[in-house]
Amino acid sequence: MPFDRPGDRPSPPARAAIDRPTVSFELFPPRTPKSFDALTVTIQALAAVRPDFISVTYGASGSTRQTTRELVRHLLAHTPVLPIAHLTCVGVSREDVVAVIEEFLDEGVRNFLALRGDPPKDQPNWRPRTGELVQASELVELLREVEAARCVTSASQALRGAARKLSVAVAAFPAGNPSAGSTREQDLRALLAKQEAGADFAITQVFFEAKSYLGLVRDARDLGITIPIVAGVIPTTDPARLVRLEELTGVQVPTDLLARLAAADDPAERHRVGIRASVDLADEVLDGGAPGLHIYTFNQHEAALDLLEGVHLGGGAPMAPEPASEPRVTASHPNYLTI
Ligand code: FAD
Repeated sequence: MPFDRPGDRPSPPARAAIDRPTVSFELFPPRTPKSFDALTVTIQALAAVRPDFISVTYGASGSTRQTTRELVRHLLAHTPVLPIAHLTCVGVSREDVVAVIEEFLDEGVRNFLALRGDPPKDQPNWRPRTGELVQASELVELLREVEAARCVTSASQALRGAARKLSVAVAAFPAGNPSAGSTREQDLRALLAKQEAGADFAITQVFFEAKSYLGLVRDARDLGITIPIVAGVIPTTDPARLVRLEELTGVQVPTDLLARLAAADDPAERHRVGIRASVDLADEVLDGGAPGLHIYTFNQHEAALDLLEGVHLGGGAPMAPEPASEPRVTASHPNYLTI
């Protein structure tokens, strides 16, 4: 149990299933067959809470083309969970990006997270080659174009496309994107461009203060961005991982959080402190109207599921006969379109 005493957080009142926030997870493709085996256990544990989807990362420059496909294929074949395939376009020719999109579509993947990806950090003079896509909004457009062309070519595909619409998610950045050198305002304009290109919803980069997420959503609405913006959260149980994440993303981890984790006497206490902090954060954004939580799992299920349990979303989808705790609802709070 992530908390001090059983029941120290009252369950929110039960409401209609329609108001249950979405729950989703991010996985990355394993590097070795052994880690794939370990991941199947995690996938089973995550699938048991019936998430709305599980997304699978994709290396910049296509570095995980095969392993991402294998993991997405595994989710399709062995779980009832909807997979979302991340796709990046940086450092790859347009033709290669089209080929990857076709591969996924041929395998029945209908949900994508369209990203630019990060250019190689060890090549300061790196420039995209002529004809390469340079922004995620272009990838959103390309996904729509490829799907439309397939529907024109084949009546069966047109029917399939009508029955199972292609969905395209994109990234959003509550604190701007330091790793790309862009400010919050620039990334909000980029988000608007992604919406105009046909994005259906956005998932945020990690953030450590609720006002960061809530401010992003408020400013996005002011700018005319209407797509749902899902809050991306990380179970903050591992200080070393938080530091690495800060290096990678440029998103600053609050020093007081690191200090509290460092002060914990043993791993169990550190886990408890970390889960408590992430539950508080998730509670705050859900109370502020976040339509869902996307949990960065780092391919481990324990902390992700403890976080979900803490916010009363761990009991499975609304059709579960007897959820462990009452489903969390936001009906008494503003929804994502109004914050
Ligand atoms: P873009 O939206 O194209 O933005 C890139 C840069 O261009 C930004 O500086 C932006 O401000 C600028 N820009 C974009 N459009 C415009 C415009 N119209 N006008 C002016 N400026 C513009 N990386 C991976 O390699 N693999 C993954 O699987 C992966 N998954 C991720 C999942 C999530 C939820 C998030 C938040 C990030 C993920 N990333 C991943 C990291 C991401 O690829 C990098 O942060 C990348 O630098 C930016 O990607 P983007 O899709 O936001 O790009």
